Amino acid sequence: MDKHASILILGAGTFGISTAYHLAKAGYTNVTVLEKSPTFPPELSAGNDLNKIIRAEYEDPFYAELALEAMAAWKSPLFAPYYHETGYLLCNSAAALEKSKKSLQKSLDSIRQRPEFNDKITPIVSRDDIRKVAPVFDGPMEWKGYFNSFAGYASAGDSLTAVYSACIALGVTIHLNSPVKFLNYSGDVCTGAETTSGKYYSASATVLTLGASLGSVLPHIKRQVIAKATPVVHMQLTPEEAAKLRGIPVTYARDLGFFFEPDRRTNLLKICPAVAGYTNYSTPSGLSLPPEDNEFIPAQDEVVIRRLLRETLPALADRPLIGRRICWCADTADSEYVIDFVPEKKGLVVVTGDSAHAFKMLPTIGGWVKDVLEKGRQDSARWRWKEGNDADVDISWRVGKTTDFSDVKEMRRDSDLPRNHEQPSKVL
Ligand SMILES: Cc1cc2nc3c(=O)[nH]c(=O)nc-3n(C[C@H](O)[C@H](O)[C@H](O)COP(=O)(O)OP(=O)(O)OC[C@H]3O[C@@H](n4cnc5c(N)ncnc54)[C@H](O)[C@@H]3O)c2cc1C
Repeated sequence: MDKHASILILGAGTFGISTAYHLAKAGYTNVTVLEKSPTFPPELSAGNDLNKIIRAEYEDPFYAELALEAMAAWKSPLFAPYYHETGYLLCNSAAALEKSKKSLQKSLDSIRQRPEFNDKITPIVSRDDIRKVAPVFDGPMEWKGYFNSFAGYASAGDSLTAVYSACIALGVTIHLNSPVKFLNYSGDVCTGAETTSGKYYSASATVLTLGASLGSVLPHIKRQVIAKATPVVHMQLTPEEAAKLRGIPVTYARDLGFFFEPDRRTNLLKICPAVAGYTNYSTPSGLSLPPEDNEFIPAQDEVVIRRLLRETLPALADRPLIGRRICWCADTADSEYVIDFVPEKKGLVVVTGDSAHAFKMLPTIGGWVKDVLEKGRQDSARWRWKEGNDADVDISWRVGKTTDFSDVKEMRRDSDLPRNHEQPSKVL
């Protein structure tokens, strides 16, 4: 591809900003990004979060390899300030289903044989084993699993901002507050996109990195990717409480949920319940798409979150939760990404199907998109367009059943709390 070719990237979330960065770093001089959000990190980007798990456990060795490459890149100068190798405690509680136990075993098998993990894995078979890797946990924790010291987490929103600044320094043009309404075509050639304000951007290559919202701009993606949501909550700790939890491993009971060491800037503890995901099919197109309002979570998930805390840090189990929201990803049936040209449309590439496991690839993912643009095709069958596939099927590492929001009886919002309870409406 000509280094001066105009490349338009739609969406500045994890995939989009990484793509812009890799293209600009490789010498592409005419890269423009359109992002719906008026602020960066984008309000509704799945990557705009306090933290994300960085680990190389994958049932599929192909992704384990990619995750190891990404982990090496997390230690490079741009990313290193945002990567914290606190280790990863991955277990099942005593009540876990057999499927959850099998999935954990596969995770362990995926790394146990690799030389990178020599001396990094500690089996967890008793309460005492947990005490050795996380002495501050004082809940009952009859958990079984393992501790992996070669893993940790990234400060997610902050690392996106670092990549954004690097893009600006490299000459990428990023337009915030620019929601894309539709794509423009001349015959079967995609010539660019138009925003809701009527501004037209022409391009010789257009890259769609719209995350879970892809279907709203490219409806013929149909059900090969499905927008699915996971709840996220936070708890405000005092500086003293946060100091006590400093350096704890990312702690994940596969059947209950996970949390991280408190954020180093805000002392917020971020917690996600274990869920198979929620869809939102109540849309005009009939596709599952994110709604505008994301500041709620299903009440049933608060119960799970409090169980997780009762198991680990019982003193926090009944404390108020804040920053309740749902976070949207784009799932594929086999949880493979889709990085490919759209068939029968020239000059149009989709980068989607993150399937809730792509943030760890932030440092490297844009390089794979650059390769596809340069070659003019996707060589790997796994990342091709999957026309006709329906993503709403069961896969091995997802435990439980996806629920549509229309079937959830009770939602909780921060605004439901008593008025005298001072709560920030947003924590990010
Ligand atoms: C709760 C939760 C926890 C997660 N934890 C982890 C983890 O621990 N480790 C890990 O590796 N991954 C994790 N993930 C997954 C990871 O966050 C995603 O895989 C990744 O962020 C997806 O990137 P994306 O670029 O496809 O989507 P996004 O980051 O959502 O980017 C899409 C962008 O498109 C923009 N956009 C949408 N519509 C328009 C429009 N019309 N015009 C212009 N812009 C538009 C959006 O504003 C957004 O900025 C988690 C996800 C969730 C939800």
